Amino acid sequence: MSNPASSPPADLFMTAPEPVPGCDVCGALAVERSEARRRGDLSKVSDVNVEIRKHPHSKRRRQ
Ligand SMILES: [Zn+2]
Repeated sequence: MSNPASSPPADLFMTAPEPVPGCDVCGALAVERSEARRRGDLSKVSDVNVEIRKHPHSKRRRQ
């Protein structure tokens, strides 16, 4: 219990990270996620949520 942030949450639906606006990767992942959800592929939905959550972003980048 000394390191609560070390393991990811086990829930599939409670935490659905929002894709970052302007990020092509996150946008594509969000599309994948909605398609996976539609066909009931819950493990894929969970995978995509993890991908979105861990995708790195530089806040300095401007378009
Ligand atoms: Zn991203």
